[in-house]
Amino acid sequence: MRGGLLILLSLLSANGTSAGIEPYHLIAGAVPPDKGPDGNTVVLDAPAGLIVFDTGRHPEHAKAILDYAKRRHRPIAAIVNSHWHLDHITGNWDIRQAYPHVAIYASGALEGALATFLKKSREQTEQALADPKTPPAQRDQYERAIAVVDHPDRIRPNHIIGKSGRMTIAGRTLDVHFARFAATEGDVWLYDPRTRVAIVGDLVVGLVPFMDTACPDGWSKALDQIAAIPFTTLIPGHGDPMNRADFLAWRTAYNHFVSCGRSTAEKNICSDGWQRDAAKFIDAAHRDYVRAAAGYSIDMRLRSSPEAQQRYCKPLKAS
Ligand SMILES: [Zn+2]
Repeated sequence: MRGGLLILLSLLSANGTSAGIEPYHLIAGAVPPDKGPDGNTVVLDAPAGLIVFDTGRHPEHAKAILDYAKRRHRPIAAIVNSHWHLDHITGNWDIRQAYPHVAIYASGALEGALATFLKKSREQTEQALADPKTPPAQRDQYERAIAVVDHPDRIRPNHIIGKSGRMTIAGRTLDVHFARFAATEGDVWLYDPRTRVAIVGDLVVGLVPFMDTACPDGWSKALDQIAAIPFTTLIPGHGDPMNRADFLAWRTAYNHFVSCGRSTAEKNICSDGWQRDAAKFIDAAHRDYVRAAAGYSIDMRLRSSPEAQQRYCKPLKAS
């Protein structure tokens, strides 16, 4: 009886249908102070292969994803991109080269970004590359950014997500959520009711919300939608997994930061407030980084002209 049970358990784990397979595999994205970050990657098992949620920016991050697939002897069947920021989608290129038939799921927001934000940042990137003072570590990432912006087919989704609902991806059923006008024009996040894991991309970033292309009120609504889901573990776009209490604390910190940023309070008061409210998620090495990013968000998204504040609350179109 005992031997039979052991055989049964080992068979189940070999098939990936029991606790032998972890509910998710996290490949943590780095947030170095001297170059652009990589978003977190979360890998899920599916009947047709692996599902990779976000693919990072740097080649080292993409290699870690491909190495994991090799170790597991499983193909990458699908990619899901949370949003179009290059620290989450550049690795689509590497994965597509290794697995040309990979299905890529994302919102359609990349197209508007290519015509506007990414077009402009490409010009700035070109200038940075022309400057001999730009350090080599940054050159690599700039060249890679230009390579994908000039050839968007390398990273483009072939399955567009435009609404929330239960979907089958690579043979696995997942709750796919679509948040319009939040961290970007179209953010995608996943919930797996079986393991109660929510994977939310940059709708939650432990250190500080990256508000470059944010619609602050839409973002707040998306956080309310996440809160309404009975998850027990939440994987943010950057930083460590959170439990429910962590997430709720982060949401409160976000809402405080937005209302402080829009008030007449001194900028430092709002930045200090963020660092106090979100202290649990900020390590000593990133304090200056967080202060700078918080100040930038206030200037660009919360205290700029009314038009600039609303820039990302409507579709991006070339002017
Ligand atoms: Zn990010």
